[in-house]
Amino acid sequence: LRTIKSLSGMRGASEEARGRGSRIGFVPTMGFLHEGHLSLIDRAAGENDLTVVSIFVNPLQFGPSEDFRSYPSDLKRDKVLARDRGCDLVFVPAAESLYPPGFRSAVRVKELENKLCGKTRPGHFEGVCTVVMKLLNVVSPHALYLGQKDAQQAIILKRMVKDMAMDVSVKACPIVREPDGLAMSSRNVYLTKQQREQAPVLRQALLAGARSLSQGETDPVRVRKVMRAVLRGKQGARLDYIEAVDPENLERPRRMSGRVLLAGAVWFGRTRLIDNIMAKVGAGRR
Ligand code: AMP
Repeated sequence: LRTIKSLSGMRGASEEARGRGSRIGFVPTMGFLHEGHLSLIDRAAGENDLTVVSIFVNPLQFGPSEDFRSYPSDLKRDKVLARDRGCDLVFVPAAESLYPPGFRSAVRVKELENKLCGKTRPGHFEGVCTVVMKLLNVVSPHALYLGQKDAQQAIILKRMVKDMAMDVSVKACPIVREPDGLAMSSRNVYLTKQQREQAPVLRQALLAGARSLSQGETDPVRVRKVMRAVLRGKQGARLDYIEAVDPENLERPRRMSGRVLLAGAVWFGRTRLIDNIMAKVGAGRR
């Protein structure tokens, strides 16, 4: 397993691999790897000759009162886990190399950035797009692997790649969950025992929404009511948002049809967790 810190070193390794005719798969992460990240590495390693994993806690995508400073990290452990799943190279850039003095640019995907998580995390998706665009320019992969766990992020980055005619294919991979349904997240380590016990309620709310859709409900406001009712019963779960939206534009139509993205964010104490399900109107009706 190679570890590269400099942008020039990473670019060199990538040019060398491309020169050999190797296919490069890229998995960007903020580290503290879990099975969700590792499932992306598995897939990338299965489909490419060189699998690159970046580990970078991107300051641009955190708000001033968010957990940038306390974000969990364990680089040594991450390297072992990534290597064991087929990662060939870890790219660990320093913030000063990605954002040196004088850095002024930003990448935005308009409209989509203001929906769902964007409402309570202004600037978040601009930070995500800016770092991912820069990482793609340095790593120059053939394929980019993203988790459905961050559904809005995947939708926005797909849009960015398409809009900017970037030469990379984007692969969205399924959410990996704990046995009780909680979506794996680096932030789950923040939860107290009691919060951890309550956390699967977010997934349960989304499942209730999916059930009402499959039974033929087409009004997004009523689906949201069903989901909110599940959360209301849980002390200690504070709702940020929970919505039923069109997965193309993240908007709430008057009537839903076809595929529907059910997505939510809930606070457990000082920890904000997100989850989502792709559901279908009428899928369960005969
Ligand atoms: P992060 O380190 O949280 O920025 O996540 C890095 C990548 O891993 C993103 O594409 C995430 O969507 C993906 N990811 C995080 N958690 C999961 C999960 N439970 N299942 C699948 N992918 C995930």
